[in-house]
Amino acid sequence: MKYLFALILAASLGCTSITPDRAYQSRVRINDEKYQEIVGVIHVHTKYSHDSLGTLEQIISAANDSKSDFVVITDHNSRGYSKAEGLDQGVLVVVGEELSVPEAHVIGLGHEYVPSNTFDQVIRDLHSQNAITIVAHPFSSKKWKNPSPIIDGIEVHNTGKMASRAGILGLLKFSFLYFFSKREAVAGLCCEERNSISLYDSLSAEKSLTAIVGADAHAVLGIPPFALDNYKDMFSIARNHVFVSQYSKNSLIEAIKKGHCFIGFDYISDSSGFFFAAKNKHGEAISGDALSYTIDTNLSVMLPRRGHVVLYKDGQRIKNFRGKSFIIPVKEPGLYRVEVYKDEFLFSREKIWIISNTINITL
Ligand SMILES: [Zn+2]
Ligand SMILES: [Zn+2]
Repeated sequence: MKYLFALILAASLGCTSITPDRAYQSRVRINDEKYQEIVGVIHVHTKYSHDSLGTLEQIISAANDSKSDFVVITDHNSRGYSKAEGLDQGVLVVVGEELSVPEAHVIGLGHEYVPSNTFDQVIRDLHSQNAITIVAHPFSSKKWKNPSPIIDGIEVHNTGKMASRAGILGLLKFSFLYFFSKREAVAGLCCEERNSISLYDSLSAEKSLTAIVGADAHAVLGIPPFALDNYKDMFSIARNHVFVSQYSKNSLIEAIKKGHCFIGFDYISDSSGFFFAAKNKHGEAISGDALSYTIDTNLSVMLPRRGHVVLYKDGQRIKNFRGKSFIIPVKEPGLYRVEVYKDEFLFSREKIWIISNTINITL
């Protein structure tokens, strides 16, 4: 199916590619700490994976073309590009690893080396090196057995697997729509992975977890040297927007671990500038943080453009809003997050645009 998608995509797109708007790079101040929003992709394969021939040069070029500030390379059981870490032509390159264990695929980020082992032991080994651990595609390729919140995050959307989720009819619709509009065609394929998001909600009830989008880009599906699922398209469809205190590897990893980030389906519309926070007399919190409940607690949601905001509490939809900015009084403690949808498509119903991380309003 991946090959079919790649062939249809290549036939449709020719040599052209998808380009999101320029990164907005908004700056915010919360509780006297300054954060900068940076945008990029996590979960990228290269020639150090058995199923990719991509190179660092192609990745840097695609990152610049897609206006991505950072790229996290995660080869299968390899950190072959570890020496490439750092700033390269304006792109922050971080090298993690996608570890295959019998129970799941685990993205490790911030470690040097861990031997292959059971899921629990690999997580312990990664944590002993202060690395973060994210379960990739928990319901596809290798379904995550026995989910538990000992990890730090969940890949709640995997761009590389959009084709297999779409099915034959979805791919035919993609090819048909392409001739009207590339944006309409990609919107037709985009849909939230509801089972992964529900898993994130249920495990977040036990421990704070981070939701990310993984590109799972391989860049060489098909017959080399034709890179059919090219990096630029995979880097442009959905991205992680991360609030960092510094433009560095350590700050990026720390921010992802804290959940100071959100997912933007930027090909639908650039989501840079989205902001979700809570405030009361105790202070302020952004997604990933906790704040003690008081009667004066408010949530605030700001969008760069109008959208349909759905507010979730403890995994349940509780409110809908349409517009651009909202102040929402909080009546009781709980785990709050938002999803935002856009609906101005000719050939598709409303589509997921933004997924925030969770703010925990505690007792
Ligand atoms: Zn995988
Ligand atoms: Zn992968």
